[in-house]
Amino acid sequence: MTRLALLGGEPLLTPAERPKWPNITEEDIGAVTALLRRGEITYNGSEGEVQALENGYRERLGAAHALAVNSGTSALHSAFFGLDLRPGDEVIAPAYTFLATAMPVFTCNGVPVLADVDPDTGILDPDGLAAHLTPRTKAVVVTHLMGFPADMERITAFAREHGLAVVEDCSQAHGAECSGRPVGRHGDVAAFSLQAKKQVTAGEGGVLVTDDRRIYERAVMLGHCIDRGEEDVTSDEYGAYGRTGFGLNYRIHPVGAALARGALARLDTVLTGRERNYGRLGALLDDIPGITPPVRQRHVDRVAHYVSYQPLYVAEELGGLPVDVFTAAVRAEGVPLTRPTSPPLHREAAFRSPSWHPGTYHPGDNTYRVYRGDEFPGVDAYIARALRLPTYSDERPDLMDAWAEGIRKVVTHAEELRDRHAAGALAA
Ligand SMILES: *Cc1c(COP(=O)(O)O)cnc(C)c1O
Repeated sequence: MTRLALLGGEPLLTPAERPKWPNITEEDIGAVTALLRRGEITYNGSEGEVQALENGYRERLGAAHALAVNSGTSALHSAFFGLDLRPGDEVIAPAYTFLATAMPVFTCNGVPVLADVDPDTGILDPDGLAAHLTPRTKAVVVTHLMGFPADMERITAFAREHGLAVVEDCSQAHGAECSGRPVGRHGDVAAFSLQAKKQVTAGEGGVLVTDDRRIYERAVMLGHCIDRGEEDVTSDEYGAYGRTGFGLNYRIHPVGAALARGALARLDTVLTGRERNYGRLGALLDDIPGITPPVRQRHVDRVAHYVSYQPLYVAEELGGLPVDVFTAAVRAEGVPLTRPTSPPLHREAAFRSPSWHPGTYHPGDNTYRVYRGDEFPGVDAYIARALRLPTYSDERPDLMDAWAEGIRKVVTHAEELRDRHAAGALAA
């Protein structure tokens, strides 16, 4: 039998070139060049490339309103501001997500209340929500993690029962669908990031989508003023304030909007390519002990694979071989297998230090929460098992097959690897 590369043998594969991403095309470059030639580098209202991008999201999602902004974080901030949170209002948020899902709640004088995730998917667990309800709970924010939709039927049913708003963070899941509808169409308001890693990218940018006129007007006012504010903020309640807005500038750059408009038109091609690659790889992993493809729950109609693909490690099937030894051995064979590195929110200093509070939050309210860092077993179970591979959008059947072979080689030698590790003979 061939020797493992980690133990001095020949690697099975020569590492492939990294995925080409973002997928900027000549057409995108043409659209950007045209803007620059015309000196079209800012808009006062919803015009030109910004309007085209907003129309693209509105039409694709069948939504009443779309607002392009300069980041996904701005879109989330605008969404929470849209909900009209009052000081001390609580928003239940997953403890495992990118930080921008929860942090802008502080800026709205609210309190993010962290909740556990499903140990198999890393996605907000509907069963855990009730434990976090208080009279101050106003909303739930959910992340469709790594392109896999949350269980929106159960989350929206819970929210309806308790009179809560639902915010969907769709930043990692452009184009995903569940329970018969696209993500972003289940809650009251949705935020999409257009940062360079996302399925649709402006480089830096974001989009907010809602059917709710009041949320939309408030979102417009947070980050827009004068023309856009006057055009779009027309209700009796807010019409007088559209001109000044509420103090921020969240306008997206027309160049970013042009890139994202082009990328949105290619979204289905990208998602189909990724689904072919990772559907193929997943079917191969199904037959290899020690590793399983990401769990696809029943409500999921369409996965929108994100910048990485995250199978799960099953140590029990390899005699308890530590996950870091396994990944090091697979990497040595030329398969770019890594593990997620971001800590969950409840282990970040911002959620752990009783002395820390954002300047905008009113202390004395007794609602600022401090986390020990060990309260969410679902988060820990997911992180302990999650593996990570890069996603290719163009079809690469040979590469997927080669990766599966590299992993299989390590699995075949798991016992030897385990013994060597137990004897202290491995650096990993
Ligand atoms: C990328 C991302 C964001 C924030 O996006 P920016 O555009 O970088 O501000 C928010 N939430 C999630 C889940 C993300 O992945």
